[in-house]
Amino acid sequence: MNPFDGLAWTNRFAGLGPDFFTELPAQGLPDPHWVAQSPDCAQLLGLPADWTTRPEALAALSGNGAWPGMQPLASVYSGHQFGVWAGQLGDGRALWLGELDTPSGPQELQLKGGGMTPYSRRGDGRAVLRSSIREFLCSEAMAALGVPTTRALCITGSRLPVIRETVETAAVVTRVAPSFIRFGHFEHFAHHDQLDALRRLVDWFIAHHAPECADAPEPAVALLRKVSLQTADLIAHWQAVGFCHGVMNTDNMSMLGLTLDYGPFGFMDAFNPGHVCNHSDDRGRYAYARQPAVAFWNLHALAQAFVPLLEGEQEAAGERLLEAVEAYRGRFAEQMLGRLRAKLGLEGEDAGDQALADDLLKLMAASSADFTITFRRLSRALSQPEPLRDMFIDREAADAWLARWRARVTPGAEARMLAINPAVVLRNHLAEGAIRAAQQQDFTEIERLLKVLSRPFDEPAVPSDAALPPDWASTLEVSCSS
Ligand code: AMP
Ligand code: MG
Repeated sequence: MNPFDGLAWTNRFAGLGPDFFTELPAQGLPDPHWVAQSPDCAQLLGLPADWTTRPEALAALSGNGAWPGMQPLASVYSGHQFGVWAGQLGDGRALWLGELDTPSGPQELQLKGGGMTPYSRRGDGRAVLRSSIREFLCSEAMAALGVPTTRALCITGSRLPVIRETVETAAVVTRVAPSFIRFGHFEHFAHHDQLDALRRLVDWFIAHHAPECADAPEPAVALLRKVSLQTADLIAHWQAVGFCHGVMNTDNMSMLGLTLDYGPFGFMDAFNPGHVCNHSDDRGRYAYARQPAVAFWNLHALAQAFVPLLEGEQEAAGERLLEAVEAYRGRFAEQMLGRLRAKLGLEGEDAGDQALADDLLKLMAASSADFTITFRRLSRALSQPEPLRDMFIDREAADAWLARWRARVTPGAEARMLAINPAVVLRNHLAEGAIRAAQQQDFTEIERLLKVLSRPFDEPAVPSDAALPPDWASTLEVSCSS
């Protein structure tokens, strides 16, 4: 029996018509096997408890056969990559299976790595096991941290060789989100002067994903404002957990403000505002401290795409769109300060809070203090200040800061802070351990890590999961190769 039998496929995106996608079947992985499954994501979809034991699930989620109701398709989009217009891109290796009615509302399912599409350009349509494990674990880890993200249901694998820098093997991630629409979808139709299609896409998106914008005097402006606010919230979340996306191109920006397209991402170990996680980003465009400004830049690219939709004089229309994007700034500042206050255990608002937080970050940068561990130790610093002091080279400066913090922090801070400052994040070396084992057909480390990462605020049973990275971690490089 098919594990998705009890669920209905609606496929609202497919209703948009052929301007927006190409229908095609997946190219299945030969002789597929399970690599990993996320029970939390399966629960979100309302799948039966034994779904992983059903052969139909392995077949469909490795691209070997669709079920009734599925309508596989690859969508077309464009985008700005590293600040430059990149022209047409599209789902080069992602296939939309359709949209499921689930207990948590409509959810789109995609296979990533299911073979070539008309948008594959020079790519092979495949994803390697290594990057699939990183995307799977990080999607679920971010969800557990409370960061808006696409989800990952499972990974299927195969011995099929895939050539990157070395010969690796192929895998398919099944990912899940209420919508996979990106800024680049809108940029595509604007750039190609397909105004009718652009209008239909905006109307469609508003109808299905932003219905409150429909009654606004200018729905497109209202939508842009909504996306700007959601993006601000997302970036504040990233900054607060030390997450670097690595490739914040407009084709990787979600219209729902979700973390999307996990590639060369990284959680910062030593705090460095200029930290660049992507080895291919040689100019540091997407450095940690630049993420807020880059998101703002990306919103301007989206605003540009909306200009032709507005009535009246173009310049005045542009002004109204810019005003909508401007909302990002205030919201980001407010959200970021709110998250920093929470990380510091502060209740209420005090005029000195921003400076208090900034001064801690300066101390951390000066000592290259580990981002996650410093905030975790700060959470306990009212009763145990020594472990925190050990993070800093300049103890006097640390003590002076601690005195200011003690004067501001309120009782009960410890419990609140431990529920906000994670013990465990998906550091590169943790993912690497799971990858190396999986490349030897041992998938138990993925399962173990998934469990640990799904409870990131608990002290892990294995202390090294929450410890400083080992020396060999500094040799790890993540790049766009995936
Ligand atoms: P990314 O840098 O992963 O966001 O990818 C940028 C574009 O290249 C997207 O349109 C992807 O679908 C496409 N792409 C990346 N890798 C591959 C691949 N191996 N095969 C086909 N298309 C790919
Ligand atoms: Mg992408």
